[in-house]
Amino acid sequence: MENNFKYSDDNKRYHTLTYYYKKKFNTKVCKVSLNANFTCPNIDGKVGFGGCIYCSKLGSGDYAGNPKESLIEQFEKGKKIMQRKWPNAKFIAYFQANTNTYAPIERLKECFEPFIERDDCIGLSIATRSDSITDECLDYLEDINKRTFLIVELGLQTIHEKNK
Ligand code: SF4
Repeated sequence: MENNFKYSDDNKRYHTLTYYYKKKFNTKVCKVSLNANFTCPNIDGKVGFGGCIYCSKLGSGDYAGNPKESLIEQFEKGKKIMQRKWPNAKFIAYFQANTNTYAPIERLKECFEPFIERDDCIGLSIATRSDSITDECLDYLEDINKRTFLIVELGLQTIHEKNK
């Protein structure tokens, strides 16, 4: 197939994340979705109860690992499944379910630190909300960003204050 677009290997009109990772890390990169058993201020009553209308029972982490297993077990399982299709892939630990900075800093460190030094894990992707990042947490994220590749995924329902 002829490729007509500059930022695509498979003729996509837009700059895909897959393409970005492949160019940056020189290999296929897969995100392994994890469930660290956090909750969310929009679920536990701090901001609201029951979650956003589109949130699932698993905190929008339906394809994440089983929270009854350790994060490393979840990562190893997810990795094995993806290696069937991409044997040479590298991996990003993707903290997907719920709000992944909504906990004391010690708990965050327990969750994130084990993935920073692994050879097979080229970085972290952390899904959270902007109201759940304390100054202390921000300093910690800055520190992580110096030690590995980091994406912080901020969910929001609207950017328009009047629609709140
Ligand atoms: S902010 Fe995210 S995790 Fe929280 S209720 Fe909404 S969709 Fe679910």
